[in-house]
Amino acid sequence: VTELIKAAVLTAVNKPLEIQEFPAPAPSTGGAVVTVAYAGICGTDIHLKSGNLPVPMPIVMGHEAVGTIAALDPALSTDINGAPLRVGDRVVWSNNIPCGRCHECLVLKERTLCKSRKIYGINRTSSDAPHLLGGMAGQIALEAGTAIIRIPDEVSFEEVIALGCAGPTALHGMLENLTIHPGDTVAVQGSGPVGLAAAIYAKQMGADQVILLGAPASRLELALEIGACDEVIDMGIYTDSAARLEKLRQMTAQERGADVVIECAGVPAAVAESLDLARPNGQVLVLGQYTDHGATPINPHYITKKQLKIFGSWGFAEAHYVKYVESLPQLRKRHDLGALLTVFALEDVNEAMDTVAAGQCTKAVLKP
Ligand SMILES: [Zn+2]
Ligand SMILES: [Zn+2]
Repeated sequence: VTELIKAAVLTAVNKPLEIQEFPAPAPSTGGAVVTVAYAGICGTDIHLKSGNLPVPMPIVMGHEAVGTIAALDPALSTDINGAPLRVGDRVVWSNNIPCGRCHECLVLKERTLCKSRKIYGINRTSSDAPHLLGGMAGQIALEAGTAIIRIPDEVSFEEVIALGCAGPTALHGMLENLTIHPGDTVAVQGSGPVGLAAAIYAKQMGADQVILLGAPASRLELALEIGACDEVIDMGIYTDSAARLEKLRQMTAQERGADVVIECAGVPAAVAESLDLARPNGQVLVLGQYTDHGATPINPHYITKKQLKIFGSWGFAEAHYVKYVESLPQLRKRHDLGALLTVFALEDVNEAMDTVAAGQCTKAVLKP
């Protein structure tokens, strides 16, 4: 008798996800089967469901997950760092497999820009075997080429999934573009998971003062509580950009503005505001525009006049995920990452998605 594994499947745009059952997979050559402990729900999942980002359907959703190796192909004996891999090991994996052969992968050396990346839970349909290619399921089939990373002993599943894909996303943009010095002020726009991750890493990279601009107040309180930032600007109170700019100026040395601004809001208007918030010759990282929400008026004069340095960054690749996991033993000592989680049963996936869409929790995760 083949064991059946439950999975949350998107069958059509704007339809509730269905719980379907698939036969338990066997590991493919060079691959592994992982029993999922937690699967995260990310803002991107809300966009996938609403059709803002087209995906092949039906699809087992979930591009962030952690779990335990259930079965291992003999051809796979170590994780991406060369550590031995065995059944029962706790692991996490980079959710995407760049092709490694194209212009973007080999010439630009920007694996995040690979056009033929395979992404678990985003462009892998469940129509064909092994079906289970997303995290929102009892098990996931990881194929050869997946960067599997053993979770350090002292780090819990909860601590790995707390920042979800936001952790490596923030690290990618920050490590490869920004220079943060001791004494710097970093302003982060947006208090969702990417904003929290950016704030946490700004501190880790040496910033003295991290100011988080966001809403609702409950989320900002949580951010302060776990030490993700030093100060907040509540957008529920400072409702217009002029008021926020004035407030931020007052908070910074000589009212200069922020040395570094990291846009994690996902709202086009936030990019225009980031140019104001940055000090002359400051750095701006645009990290939040994951879906195309359209154009926004900006005044390019400020870019020239202030000699701003502006960067963009898209997703993450294996190296960023490895860095993310390496950062967790330190992060967990400084921040109660587990406090960010709200746990739902796999069967309650639609309720969990609605909660995320309404911004009513910081990080929703499913426990299959
Ligand atoms: Zn995501
Ligand atoms: Zn490629």
